[in-house]
Amino acid sequence: MKIAVLRETAEAEHRVAATPETVKKLIALGAELAVESGAGAGANIADGDYEAAGATVADRAGVISGASLVMGVQVPGVDGLPGIAKGTMVAGMMMPFANAERIKGYADAGLVALSMEFMPRITRAQSMDVLSSQSNLAGYKAVIDAAEAYGRAFPMMMTAAGTISAARVFIMGVGVAGLQAIATARRLGALVSATDVRSATKEQIESLGAKAIFVTEVKGIEGEGAGGYATEMSDEYKAAQAALVSSHIAKQDIVITTALIPGRPAPRLVSDAQLRTMRPGSVLVDLAVESGGNVEHSRPGEVVEVHGVKIIGHKNLAGRMAADASSLYSRNLFNFINAFWDKEGKTLSLPADDEIVVGVKLTEGGAVVHERLKAA
Ligand code: NAD
Repeated sequence: MKIAVLRETAEAEHRVAATPETVKKLIALGAELAVESGAGAGANIADGDYEAAGATVADRAGVISGASLVMGVQVPGVDGLPGIAKGTMVAGMMMPFANAERIKGYADAGLVALSMEFMPRITRAQSMDVLSSQSNLAGYKAVIDAAEAYGRAFPMMMTAAGTISAARVFIMGVGVAGLQAIATARRLGALVSATDVRSATKEQIESLGAKAIFVTEVKGIEGEGAGGYATEMSDEYKAAQAALVSSHIAKQDIVITTALIPGRPAPRLVSDAQLRTMRPGSVLVDLAVESGGNVEHSRPGEVVEVHGVKIIGHKNLAGRMAADASSLYSRNLFNFINAFWDKEGKTLSLPADDEIVVGVKLTEGGAVVHERLKAA
């Protein structure tokens, strides 16, 4: 079975879907690997490194020709997959809700599209969970970006010239990215507080040494929430949350927002009025900027200054740490392939009734087959 690895062509995408390490592991399974020339450049991997690992290197049409599986990070639409044969599996991140036309294109071309962001959040799939591996790095990078833009220090410093007080960092949304942001800000010496709508996160916040700031008068989401995900909150909850944030945010120096609701625009958590109460020089990082944004005025790919407060809206934070992000992402893909590898036939064989396969498969046999997409 031939597996093709694409060079990314999306704007500012420096990651790659395979590294020499995973190329070797896939070859050890019995696969043949073909890597598009230049695929690893953004992650400091040369074509020669892939060749040394046992892959062939060719242009895009060359790697796709004869491949049964085509892998990418942000996979292009059918137009970007020249000569791809009917029945070919395509695996990567497809942002299915935002790219309905592109997904329909895969269906029309008879491809089997596998969207790795739809990996079910079950224990068996943890090692294949690309959202977790990438969000973890994004949470770290958000704090580093904030520290860089902040004109002050994070830790308290007692010097001969006097004391510098510790930065106050508030993390809104404590999923994978938020937890890493708490841990990173704590390591840098900040005073950290955090909030979420899922009650299970309270203990996680406290176990990382941060202060949990929670709405108490209206009930949030019990425990983890369905599959670890939040849903849209009631108007009553939103009002209570806005009041709580208003009383807390004015005292914060750095705010990092990570709140997402699957299949919906990101919830608005910080308003213009709340920004006005913050000290000039404060910094916000909106990790949800590409899903509509948690912070009023945040703009994808830009740093804007409003009321003296910097709002950082960098896109694709994980992609800005391409070497580590590629190494984790490519292992996620390897773990997925390895789990469904037919050792005798030396091919990838996806059982139609497996929970993971049902979770990630968007198109097959000329149609969109995923329930969540059909419903949308
Ligand atoms: P996410 O990216 O969907 O959302 C980020 C966070 O924002 C979530 O914690 C969510 O509750 C929070 N949020 C949403 N709306 C909010 C609002 N209005 N106000 C405040 N916060 C809000 O979440 P994620 O990082 O992908 O993961 C969520 C959870 O899923 C994790 O904490 C983990 O427990 C679980 N998980 C399980 C597995 C697994 O078992 N395989 C893998 C990864 C994550």
